[in-house]
Amino acid sequence: MKSRLISAKEMKMLVFSVAMAYLICAVICFFHIRDVRGTFAEQIEEGIGDSVDQIESLSQDFFYDLDTYVRECSRELETEENLSVSYIGAVLSGIENGPHVERAIYVRNDIIYTSSGIVISETLNRFWEDTKKGNLTRMHIAPSVIRDNAYNIVVPVPIKEKSGQTGYVVAVYDSTLFFDEPMFDRMKSENALFLVGKDGVILDESVNSDFDIDNNKMKDPDMLVRTLFLAGNNTESKKSIQTIRNSFFNKNHRMVYIESPALDGDEVYINTLVMNDIDEVAIVVFTDFSKRLAKTDFFVGKTWIVLLIIIVITLAGNLVVWKYLQSSTVRIERMAYVDDVTKGKNLNFFRQEAAHIIMTNQEVPFVIQRFDIANFRYLNEAYGHMRADEVLKACIDIYTSMYSEKELCVRMSSDQFLTLTVNDIDIKDKRERYVEALNHYSHEKGIKYPINLKFGVYQVRKMDHDIDIMIDRANVARKSLLHSKNEHVAYYTDAIIQDMRKVENIEASKQKALETGEFKVYLQAKWDIINDHVAGAEALVRWIKEDGNMVFPDEFIPIFEENGFIEQLDFYMLESVCRRMAEVKKEGGTIYPVSVNQSRVLLHNPDYLDKIREIFTKYDIPRDFVELEVTETSLADNKEHMVEVLKELKDEHVRLDMDDFGSGYSSLNLLKDMPFDVLKIDREFFSESITSESSTLILRKIIEMADGLGIEVICEGVENQDQVDLLKDLGCKRVQGYFYSRPIPMEDYIKKYCMS
Ligand code: C2E
Ligand code: CA
Ligand code: CA
Repeated sequence: MKSRLISAKEMKMLVFSVAMAYLICAVICFFHIRDVRGTFAEQIEEGIGDSVDQIESLSQDFFYDLDTYVRECSRELETEENLSVSYIGAVLSGIENGPHVERAIYVRNDIIYTSSGIVISETLNRFWEDTKKGNLTRMHIAPSVIRDNAYNIVVPVPIKEKSGQTGYVVAVYDSTLFFDEPMFDRMKSENALFLVGKDGVILDESVNSDFDIDNNKMKDPDMLVRTLFLAGNNTESKKSIQTIRNSFFNKNHRMVYIESPALDGDEVYINTLVMNDIDEVAIVVFTDFSKRLAKTDFFVGKTWIVLLIIIVITLAGNLVVWKYLQSSTVRIERMAYVDDVTKGKNLNFFRQEAAHIIMTNQEVPFVIQRFDIANFRYLNEAYGHMRADEVLKACIDIYTSMYSEKELCVRMSSDQFLTLTVNDIDIKDKRERYVEALNHYSHEKGIKYPINLKFGVYQVRKMDHDIDIMIDRANVARKSLLHSKNEHVAYYTDAIIQDMRKVENIEASKQKALETGEFKVYLQAKWDIINDHVAGAEALVRWIKEDGNMVFPDEFIPIFEENGFIEQLDFYMLESVCRRMAEVKKEGGTIYPVSVNQSRVLLHNPDYLDKIREIFTKYDIPRDFVELEVTETSLADNKEHMVEVLKELKDEHVRLDMDDFGSGYSSLNLLKDMPFDVLKIDREFFSESITSESSTLILRKIIEMADGLGIEVICEGVENQDQVDLLKDLGCKRVQGYFYSRPIPMEDYIKKYCMS
């Protein structure tokens, strides 16, 4: 596959893909980091669970120890025979000396004993009454008898004295000191702790100052919960409330997680821990999850920032690399795809881009046009390279300004251009306007010479052929115009295809034709009009095919000139003439000078002179018997070399004939420098001159001048008596033309003129 440069669209796609890749990476990172955060959260949850478990087990132990201590101390009242007031006091003060007890009393038969003696107290009595009514034997909560709005933890121990009397030891623990116990020290810093009774009374609390919950709200757990769920009319919140309540009252210890607007969206865990050894008391632990997670979030945030920095750095790196690639792409593009003369694009670019445009615009009808500037060489010589190059550049610039973006125009080489053009209805008009614009431009630049373009057009039918084939076909069409003066546009059509086939046929069969003698020498007599006698002949080639069909030189000579085969053919003609005439001479026939056409290709061959000498020597023919005809146009390029070759021939006494004089850009100067013996005036010049007086005058002067230079003149294409008379009058002595003889086979000529 041919590689091509990235188009703007493809570049966009590339940038888009890179952006997508970044996006995908970012999404993956996002989910990954979220995962990490989730894992951390789980671990924090586990940590909360662990510390709550610890609180629970410490609290359970505490109540168990309290209960056990009071009971064990009280037992002494059951072992003593005679309980004196002082003994009871001693036991009670022993209990009060325990680590947790605030006060202890013994109640028996409505008498209250304290550590300091018997007390008659209304309030204590009431307290005792309440206790008795409840018939409580387990630890429980009761309102403080000493302090208003305060509650105590009460440990009631029923006593059966040895004497048979019954009583109660009642130990009171000041619940406001509960969280002051050293065992909670560590827990307090991280949690908000509440010791709560059944009715929602708060016996003790420890709220860390960092823990952002208003103390007042905590006074009533129901209220607190309601506050937490202030916006919680939704069923989800209601369910949570229910869960907390159930866990509280049904001793179904469960952790509940809430996220409440009342907490500014903070996430809080509530654990309700129900105690085994004391009735209807629970410890409520609030844990600030957000605060715990804040550390993780800080870490996550940092990770994001690091990631962002990495993305920014790689993006910047990519940008630098991209910029660099872009600039080097531009440089490479310049080298590979830019034409130095026009600064437009070149053939390489056209090959790739045209194929791409055709493929991607299948519904658009396109043509490929190849055009060149007729007689560009003249423009170059007359106005110089710089200005000729300006015209070349204008060819590109004007096209670009007139045609759309998907239409292309590039210079292939010298004055050869290539376009990809949309084949719409005004293609012809637009082409004409293009040529007009180009002429307008060159005129403004002071170039008087009209610029004619010759277009060969190939109609693209989808990408049915390789682009090079299409370009070649456009060129075949263009070449068909080479010999036509008035036609400027040719389409690649069936006729052209046939012409091409013909060319291919000629190419394929030429060698064999030469070997089997299909090329025949025809001779056309030249006439001495003064003495009315044959004066010589011109050798003209004919190709007689196997089937007897004759092919004229116009059909194959240009082809042979292109492929170089003309050299072989010209030598073959020369040799055939020399051999046959040598024989005729030997046989005693009269021979006249025969001129043989020499292609311009031939004269450039470095072995040319040797080859000529070889032939002359081989057949031992008088040198001045053979004339070599060289067209004046073939002398145009490499003039110095031509003069040298011709001079050498002259030194060998070979007669030289300047053919077709007056058909091209004749220059009388040539005659001065070149050693010609004969000037052959073209039939076209001659047929025109017969009608125009001034032309006749010119012709007369040419003949006079040639005479003066010692050069013979012969006029070609004489077809009637009038022409003969006129030429005679102008001083011309010899003519060649159908009026005297058509070209005839060499043997016929020999019979007719040499053997008679
Ligand atoms: P050319 O050298 O100018 O040859 C003269 C052409 O004019 C010949 O055409 C000839 O048949 C034709 N002609 C002669 N008298 C008249 C006339 O009265 N009226 C008209 N209308 N035409 C006349 P032909 O033989 O077809 O040759 C065409 C050209 O082919 C020649 O032009 C010459 O350039 C080239 N050619 C022919 N044979 C050879 C050859 O052996 N070698 C080379 N290199 N070129 C050849
Ligand atoms: Ca000739
Ligand atoms: Ca001629």
